[in-house]
Amino acid sequence: MKTKQEAALAKHRTTSQRRLLLDIMHSAEGHLDADELYRRARERKDRLSLSTVYRNLQLFKKLGLVEEHHFEEGRHCYELKPAVEHHHLICLGCGRVEEFICPETQYMKEKVAKDKNFKILSTEVRMTGFCSACRRKKRGES
Ligand SMILES: [Zn+2]
Ligand SMILES: [Zn+2]
Repeated sequence: MKTKQEAALAKHRTTSQRRLLLDIMHSAEGHLDADELYRRARERKDRLSLSTVYRNLQLFKKLGLVEEHHFEEGRHCYELKPAVEHHHLICLGCGRVEEFICPETQYMKEKVAKDKNFKILSTEVRMTGFCSACRRKKRGES
């Protein structure tokens, strides 16, 4: 059994860890995977484990604070839920992820919600292909 004091301490540690992780995600540009988040968190706090990072990411996801993306096979990326919904273009050559805003999805969301009588919370448009740099490189090779 934990004493009251120990429980309070543990609780405080969890909140400060959560704050740190959210803070890192907030200041990061683009998308981070759990390893990168862990690496950055360790730079600022040494007592933190990778499983804590994973656990918190799952929690953030459940709370709707963070979005999880699968840009690459077997690799999950995370970002704070943006104020304006955006979508992703993923280059299959270099793995670059570009964001774009698509007002049409708003219309689509309303239409599908009405047609299907479904409450839609989020939409994700994910387009894959080759960026201009990769296409240029490819042309240069052939
Ligand atoms: Zn590329
Ligand atoms: Zn994004």
